[in-house]
Amino acid sequence: MGIKNIVGLIGWPVSHSVSPGMQNRAFLELGCHDWLYVPMPVATSPNSRIKEAVLGLRALGIVGANVTVPHKEAVLPYLDDLSDMAKAIGAVNTIAIDNEGRLIGHNTDGLGFISDLVEHDVDPKGMQVVVLGAGGSARAITYALLSHGCQNITILNRTKSKANDIAFSFRDSFKNAIIKTDTLAAIKDTPSADLIINTTSIGLKSTGDQMPVDKDVHFTKSQIVYDLIYNPKMTTFLKHAAKDGARTINGLGMLVHQGALAFAIWTKQKAPVAAMKEAALAAL
Ligand code: NAP
Repeated sequence: MGIKNIVGLIGWPVSHSVSPGMQNRAFLELGCHDWLYVPMPVATSPNSRIKEAVLGLRALGIVGANVTVPHKEAVLPYLDDLSDMAKAIGAVNTIAIDNEGRLIGHNTDGLGFISDLVEHDVDPKGMQVVVLGAGGSARAITYALLSHGCQNITILNRTKSKANDIAFSFRDSFKNAIIKTDTLAAIKDTPSADLIINTTSIGLKSTGDQMPVDKDVHFTKSQIVYDLIYNPKMTTFLKHAAKDGARTINGLGMLVHQGALAFAIWTKQKAPVAAMKEAALAAL
C-alpha cells in the first residue's frame, strides 16, 4: 500500500528526535500503513524559511505536523486558526490541516504533562506547585495546571521578568489562583511545595552536571520532583532529589502523551500509548 498521509516534525535540529520512531510505531500498531511521520528540518534565523515551510505543508498535501524548538511561536502568523489552548499559551506544537485546507494550530504539551501526572497517580489540584523556568514549556504547563484546577503556583526563573510575564497573562483568567514569581534562588522559600517541576534546559547532556537549583537545596520524601528532560533519563537534579528520598519523574511520559494527543488530532483515533512509550524508549 502506498503512503497517502504524511506528517512531519518541523524544528531545528530534528535529526535526534524520538518522535518519528514513536509516531511511526503508533501508525503500525493501528494498521495505518498509508501514514508516515518524517523529520522536516527548518533552519533558524537569520535565514529561517519557517513561513515557506508552514505554507508548504498545504501546498504539498501534508496532513499534519509537530512543531518543536525553536519554531513553536514563530509558526503562529502563518496559521489560519488556533485551538483555545494554543491561543492561551501563545505557542503551537501540533498543526493539523483540515478538509478545507486550513492550517489549525494546537498545543498538546500542557495536557501531555497533565496526562503523565494522571498516569503516575498524581493529582495536582490541591497541590502547591513550583515551576522552575519560564520558557515555552513552563507557559504550557502553568496554563494546563491552572486549567486543571491547581490554585497555588510559584514560577521561579533566572530572568524574573519572564516569570512575571507568564503570571500576568494568566491572572485574569484564573482569579482564584495564587501565582507568585521570583528567581531560582527563591526555591529556599518554598519548603512546603508538593510538586517541583524543572522546565529549564539545565540537565540536558550539553549542560553537564549542572542543576537548576543550588546543591544545598534539599527535598523531602513527601515531595514529587518532575524534570521535563528525558535524555538523560535521570538528570543530576533528579538524582539529587532521589537521594533526599523525593519521588522523581522524568519527561518521557510527557513526551509520549503530547505525541499521543497529536496523533489523535491527526488520525481521529485513540493513540496506542504503551507502544509509543516502548518505541520512544528504544529510540533514546
Ligand atoms: P525555552 O523556551 O528555551 O526556555 C528555557 C528555560 O530554561 C528558560 O526559563 C531559561 O531561563 C532557562 N535556562 C536556560 N539556560 C539556563 C541557565 N544556564 N541557567 C538558568 N536558567 C536557564 O525552552 P522550553 O521549550 O521551555 O524547553 C525547556 C526544556 O523542557 C528543554 O530541556 C526541553 O527539552 C524540555 N521539554 C520537554 C518536553 C517533554 O515532552 N518532555 C516538552 C517540551 C520541552 P531564562 O528565561 O532566564 O533564559
